[in-house]
This record gives sequence, C-alpha cells and structure tokens, in this order.
Amino acid sequence: MHLIHNVSEMQRHADAARAAGKRLVLVPTMGALHEGHFALVREGLRNGNEITVSIFVNPTQFGPGEDYSRYPRTLEDDLERLHEMESAITVFAPSVEEMYPGGTDTNLSWVEVERLDEHLCGRHRPGHFRGVATVVARLLNVCKPHVAIFGLKDAQQFVILNRMVKDLLFDVEVIGLPTVREADGLALSSRNAFLTPEERSRAVVIARAVEAGKRAIEGGARRAEDVTAKMRDILAGEPRARPQYVELVDAAMLQPISEITPGREVLAAAAVFFGQTRLIDSAFLRSPGDLRKE
Ligand code: AMP
Repeated sequence: MHLIHNVSEMQRHADAARAAGKRLVLVPTMGALHEGHFALVREGLRNGNEITVSIFVNPTQFGPGEDYSRYPRTLEDDLERLHEMESAITVFAPSVEEMYPGGTDTNLSWVEVERLDEHLCGRHRPGHFRGVATVVARLLNVCKPHVAIFGLKDAQQFVILNRMVKDLLFDVEVIGLPTVREADGLALSSRNAFLTPEERSRAVVIARAVEAGKRAIEGGARRAEDVTAKMRDILAGEPRARPQYVELVDAAMLQPISEITPGREVLAAAAVFFGQTRLIDSAFLRSPGDLRKE
C-alpha cells in the first residue's frame, strides 16, 4: 500500500510508473468504500498493473444544504480494506487545499459539459456536474492514468465524463461497470450508511421501480410516460419514499423522450429521498427491435 497525500508526489509517482512501462489505472472515489468500489478496483487490476484509487470528498460537487460536511469519511478502514485486497495499490488521498490551491472560492477554472446536465440529477443539483467534471479533470492530470474506471450506478456522471474526455482530448480510456447491488437489489452506495434499518429495508423500492421500467420497455412499451408511470406506481407503494425525479431520457444526450424507438438506447432513472438521504438508481435499456420489420 502506497499512500500519497500530495499532488506533486502523485505526479512524480505516475511519471515514474509510466517511464517504467506500466499501464496506469485510476479509480476515482469519495471513500467510505463498499463492494461497488471494490468491483471497480478488481476491474482495474484486470486492465493495468499500476492501480491508483483516489479518495477525495470533493467540496465543489456539493450544493448548499447538501451533505458535504456529514458525508462519511472512513479513510483508515478504506486503507485497510484496500490493503487486504491488493497490497500494491496506490491510494491518493489529497486535502482540499492540495486539489484546490488557494481554496475553492478563489478557483477560476472549471470544466462545464453543456446540455448533458439539463435533466436528471443535474436539474436538481445545479453545479454538481461542473464540480464532478472539474475534479475528475484534475485527478486525470495528477494521476496520469491510461485507463479510468467509473460505475454506471452514477449513469449521468458516466455519460458526462465520457463526453468530457472525448471533447477535451484526454488521452485516457474510460471504462464503465454495471451497478453492484445488495442481495435484495438495493444499489450499493456510501450514503446507504445514513439509512435507519427501517429505511434500509424499504429503500429497495428504488431498484424495484427501475426494474419495473426495464420490464415495461422489454415488454415493448412505446410511450415514455407509460414507462415512468409504472416506475412511479412502484414508488407510490412505499410511503417513506419521496421521489425527486423519475425520468426516461435518451442515453446519448440525456434529453427526455416521449416515444421509445426500438433498438435505441434509453436511460431510466430515479432519485428518491428516504428521510434526509437521497439515493439514485438507473438502468440503460434498449427496447426490443420491431419484430415485424426483422
Ligand atoms: P463515489 O465514491 O460514490 O463517488 O463513487 C466512486 C465510483 O464508484 C463512481 O464511479 C461510482 O459510480 C462507483 N460506484 C458507486 N457505487 C457503485 C455501485 N453500487 N456499483 C458500481 N459502481 C459504483
């Protein structure tokens, strides 16, 4: 286990690894690691031979009143679990001052990916994806990976970061991994730790709602509102669930659609509050081809 807190040390480490011919992989996280993160790390180990896991709770992606100050920070445990998994992992755990020299208020350089943040989480969390894109661009410049691995659990984030890498010509391959779930279907999330046992047992309704959307599309539903109505119905059956959004968008531009075109990929997504805790879940889906034309 190699723990680095400092930007220039991380850059030197990455330069040396590149000079030695290593294939560098970065798994960016905010810590409070769980099996979803470890699945990304395992994929990293398959895709390269110099793995860095960054652990940084990025202040610029949290809005006023969101959970930045109470976001779980469990660095000691995270390090222990990563070490048990693979002792050769490098952990980059910078301070806010390292990532934003002079502080976040005086920062002038931001990465904005237009249009893709207009709906879903972006609509409800203004500035969130600007913060995400900015910190990931910085992490790519600091950790210099050949490959960066993200979870499809944060589907909008994945689409936005892919686009950022493409548009800004970052020399990095982006890999997305399917959502890792609890046995009952709930998507693993660091925020699940905030749920009371009662909320936890009921939170699976989000996964069920996404599953209902999936079944509707696979069953040949053609109107987006029929699909989202099915998803909403499931959520309405759980009084503790307070949906923030339930949406069906096209998977490329993340814009709402009204008709589902056979073969074209869509994203069904929901954000739901349980008490103060906001959880998200989603699925990339494709309606079956029109059999009559095949
Ligand atoms: P976070 O620490 O929540 O910012 O997540 C760090 C990375 O892990 C992101 O790329 C997430 O999409 C990914 N991730 C989080 N939860 C899961 C999950 N349940 N399954 C797969 N990837 C996940």
